[in-house]
Amino acid sequence: EWDRIKKRLRAELGEDVFSSWFARVDLEAHNDGIVHLSVPTRFLKNWIQSKYRDRLLGLCQDEFGMVQQIEFSVRSAIRPSNGAEAPQGAGERSVDLRPITVPPTRPSPTVVLSEPRSDSREDVLAGSPLDPRYSFATFVEGRSNSLAFAAARRVADTKPGEPVAFNPLYLHAAVGLGKTHLLQAIAHAAKAAGRKVLYLTAEHFMYRFVAALKSQSAIQFKDALRGIDLLLIDDMQFLQGKQIQQEFCHTLNSLIDGARQVVVAADRPPVELETLDERVRSRLAGGLLVEVQQPDLDLRRRIVGARVTAAVKTYPALTVTPAVVDYVAENVVSSGRDLDGAVNRLVAHNQLTGEPISVEMAEVALRDLLRVREPKKVKIEDIQRIVSKHYNVSKADLLSARRTRTVVRPRQIAMYLAKTLTPRSLPEIGRRFGNRDHTTVLHAVRKIEELVGADRVLADEVDLLKRMLDG
Ligand code: ADP
Ligand code: MG
Repeated sequence: EWDRIKKRLRAELGEDVFSSWFARVDLEAHNDGIVHLSVPTRFLKNWIQSKYRDRLLGLCQDEFGMVQQIEFSVRSAIRPSNGAEAPQGAGERSVDLRPITVPPTRPSPTVVLSEPRSDSREDVLAGSPLDPRYSFATFVEGRSNSLAFAAARRVADTKPGEPVAFNPLYLHAAVGLGKTHLLQAIAHAAKAAGRKVLYLTAEHFMYRFVAALKSQSAIQFKDALRGIDLLLIDDMQFLQGKQIQQEFCHTLNSLIDGARQVVVAADRPPVELETLDERVRSRLAGGLLVEVQQPDLDLRRRIVGARVTAAVKTYPALTVTPAVVDYVAENVVSSGRDLDGAVNRLVAHNQLTGEPISVEMAEVALRDLLRVREPKKVKIEDIQRIVSKHYNVSKADLLSARRTRTVVRPRQIAMYLAKTLTPRSLPEIGRRFGNRDHTTVLHAVRKIEELVGADRVLADEVDLLKRMLDG
């Protein structure tokens, strides 16, 4: 059960957050409605207790049933944890899928400063894990991300000592649109060019800072931070805590004023980072702000194509037709992450069942990723409500036996809409419209059909009503 809880946490929080806080949490015991967990440090204990207690309790209740309380203990330093010690590399990101699309190369767990150093800086400044797949070469450029891509390239290509073009560069976009990919691509490229690069998620930044405070190495941490050429902070929306924000602000100011490049990514623009200190916000907004938009069809198609090409390298026997690529690109519309997931899933499905990858197979394998396109179910009440509102006729009148023209026509339109937009039968519709005979309904439907063919204005009105109902 504990493994399942961890899995769910990882899925919910993302790999970075999960590995920062939960990778080294162990289940010690579970009895009398109390779940005993152990963690390696006091800091982690306090952190998890203050931020994740309720969520953990909920998950434990789901998995263990009766749980009233969670107790944390701090493990002695001697006892090794049974989880992985090193931060989990991005290899864990798509847990079940990565082995299928990518040959099992283990990413180096952390990329720190560009050269190994003998002083203690490395420990103080270990970066968040970088995924070797996130390079400029694997990033597919399109209309929705071309500005972000160009800005990222520019930042990466700046030589040490050259004036920085825009500072900070701030990328924002919804989840899965390639922010992390671009940040890490910058990190890889700049690192290869010999610059001192630090890539940190905001959560890691907090963790490192608080850890440095605890071990009284805060000064070294701050000094080290200010000595780098390029700082990349991912998921800025998670930066919390007054003191930490203050520290971040100092770092930001001193880097920018010292002409060192800062790149920040977040899921929203700076003005919407409500929990962030006003000074940090305005400093962040002072550089270049770039939004990455949802990928259009063309870009989706090329991302899928690139993924398929990569998969075929690993599985030469694989055949994926252009029709399948089109199908995925047209139907998986949400994000780069889902496109990745879709291709991985097709390959996994194929590897596990031997079934060739076809559009039919994709329909089944991707069902839950696909845009929900079920037609909206229209109810007769909705039709009556909207028609009576639109024609300013009371619902009672609509259902009454009154035969004045102002009531008859809207009533007929409503019955026509009921017939065309719902699966209800003529007798049923008659009953719902003040117990009329089904021939009356049929007459109304025919009448409106006839009028719509002849009267443009009425046709437009009916069309409008349909759209209001169909949403
Ligand atoms: P974000 O950080 O914005 O949530 P990620 O950078 O983690 O998104 O992207 C999610 C996945 O989609 C990654 O596997 C990434 O490689 C892929 N992806 C997103 N956009 C692109 C793109 N334009 N080209 C190639 N891969 C992309
Ligand atoms: Mg990200």
